[in-house]
Amino acid sequence: MSFSEVYGKIDQNKIKDIVYTATEKDVEAVLRKTRWSVDDFPYLISPPAEKFLEKMAAISRKITFLRFGKTVKLYAPLYISNSCVNACKYCGFNVNNKIPRITLKLEEVLKESDEIFSHGIGHILLVSGEDKKAVPVEYFEEIVKRLREKFYAVSIEVYPMDYDDYLKLSKAGVTGIAVYQETYNFERYKELHKGPKADFFYRLETPERAASAGFRELGLGVLFGLSDFRVDLTMVAIHARYLMKHYWRSQVAISFPRLRDAEGHFKPYEIVNDKQLAQVIFALRMVLNDVDIVLSTRENPDFRDGMAGLGVTRISAGSKTNPGGYSVHTDALKQFEIADERSPEEIGKMLESKGLEPVWKDFDKSFLFD
Ligand code: SF4
Repeated sequence: MSFSEVYGKIDQNKIKDIVYTATEKDVEAVLRKTRWSVDDFPYLISPPAEKFLEKMAAISRKITFLRFGKTVKLYAPLYISNSCVNACKYCGFNVNNKIPRITLKLEEVLKESDEIFSHGIGHILLVSGEDKKAVPVEYFEEIVKRLREKFYAVSIEVYPMDYDDYLKLSKAGVTGIAVYQETYNFERYKELHKGPKADFFYRLETPERAASAGFRELGLGVLFGLSDFRVDLTMVAIHARYLMKHYWRSQVAISFPRLRDAEGHFKPYEIVNDKQLAQVIFALRMVLNDVDIVLSTRENPDFRDGMAGLGVTRISAGSKTNPGGYSVHTDALKQFEIADERSPEEIGKMLESKGLEPVWKDFDKSFLFD
């Protein structure tokens, strides 16, 4: 059964009911358990569970330590193009925004990647808007082949593709994808997206196509601020559980960026505060012990520092969110504003000062057996 079929059987109103009618006693009963499943998740992220944040943090820290040791993996995004044919209402790269469109040439991509690599980062995430003419699959192939000469991991956060294209990219050396559903609320999704991205189910099944093509990392996520964040994140947890069961060779990573200002000034459906964000991180770690939890530079330094080791296992560092932002076109429009401007070296020192181990490289081609 595909995840689209699973999705069709889930009653999101029921999830919402559990989240917003859960009592303190319900939460206490869940916290008395010693192992938790995704079915417990709506209770752990419910408003009454906020009162138990310290206890949840301690459990989350313990599980994270048992599963990941003291490691926190580092990565950096490289924006290849801000050209996009979609009109997502919340994004600065929206086709209707009159901004200069830039697609980096191969030599510019390599220059940018050299800058990233010079800071010790070994995992690079290629990001691009959805424009197959500006950035065709063959171009990604060419870029990835060159980048794999240096980087141990090259992931992509670009437009969803068919299985055959993923297979080409997997063979070229792409190690993982990130494809955020943005919101699992179908009606809200339809309101917010125009263009090819409006195909909700094609996007929903993307991680399955990518896993079938051999990617060893699958990134899921939602954008907090588009719909009810508690329901959306419960749906991510269900989606992750499905992928972990059916595509167990791939590592699942989860992100839940909060909406920040972008060109167009979209008004978020709701604002998720730091306490709520911490609560969902701890709850996610409790029910999905082995997923990577990712925090990007959208979040402020104090929050990122506080969460490292408490549940979060991967953070971006020194990020630029505009094509050419590291060295080529430093003044191009950013996709979103960055809150943590520290360099990778500063992030590494911060982690070490907390007794954590920054991981600059966690995989080598020699680990692969034919
Ligand atoms: S979110 Fe992605 S697909 Fe949507 S407008 Fe922005 S770059 Fe394009």
